[in-house]
Amino acid sequence: LYAYASTLKGAEGEKPGQVIVLRDITEEEKEEKARRDFVANVSHEIRTPLTTLKSYIEALEDGAMYDPQLSAHFLRVIHNETDRMVRLVNDLLQLSRFDSGTEGWNFSPQSLAGLLDRAVERFSVQCRNQGIGMFVEVEPRLPQVVVDRDKLDQVLDNLISNALKYTPEKGMIRLAASRDGDMVVVKVIDTGIGIPKKDLPRIFERFYRVDKARSRKLGGTGLGLSIAQQIIEKHGGKIQIESELGRGTTVLFTLPVAKEGVA
Ligand code: ADP
Repeated sequence: LYAYASTLKGAEGEKPGQVIVLRDITEEEKEEKARRDFVANVSHEIRTPLTTLKSYIEALEDGAMYDPQLSAHFLRVIHNETDRMVRLVNDLLQLSRFDSGTEGWNFSPQSLAGLLDRAVERFSVQCRNQGIGMFVEVEPRLPQVVVDRDKLDQVLDNLISNALKYTPEKGMIRLAASRDGDMVVVKVIDTGIGIPKKDLPRIFERFYRVDKARSRKLGGTGLGLSIAQQIIEKHGGKIQIESELGRGTTVLFTLPVAKEGVA
């Protein structure tokens, strides 16, 4: 709360008065702090991979380049870190288009079963390599949903790649869809490491991660869930996460059912 008091001199013969201004600046301050934190986070997230790149390049210059095995390994690290930086900058550009309202949207009725099946195909090689099974369970006669197909693919890709990142070998990922009134509920369920209770309330915040080093090592940018949330909310849906440490995580989101006749 911002308070300002000033004593006014009264005109000749009048009593002096006082003006008090009270203004609630907590909201403004919060927004300003969020903006400052975001800029600090972005700078940090860009500086970290740059420091890594610099140290690997210096090691190559210092002689590692003459060792074929070592140089191949260092170049792989440099390649992966560069890819991650490109992903980070692309994610940031997309978030900035969401914030400014300049992102383009293209909604149409789509079959969820088709979207989920194609998502499974995109990850089939990675699943096999990691020894993880992935299954689709769609309720019979599920109506179509109104979605921007590319954006919904992006949500599914973010959630499935998280499930794959945080699920050990022999685990399982299920993609389930069922109707609930005017909405369809989609769940991405994994049997992975889970998320501690205390982290759950902040998990959709930009750059919030349970374990920063681990997320970076696995190629994460810390923006996947925030982007998924923005996309689902733009569809008129909601997204939430439930998790039990050591047992697994379920991300659940809703999408509006297409009106009969349109579908
Ligand atoms: P990241 O790029 O780090 O994966 P996200 O925004 O996608 O960023 O997720 C934020 C954090 O939430 C992750 O760093 C991880 O700690 C946690 N998380 C997300 N999905 C899962 C999951 N399926 N299992 C366990 N932890 C998860």
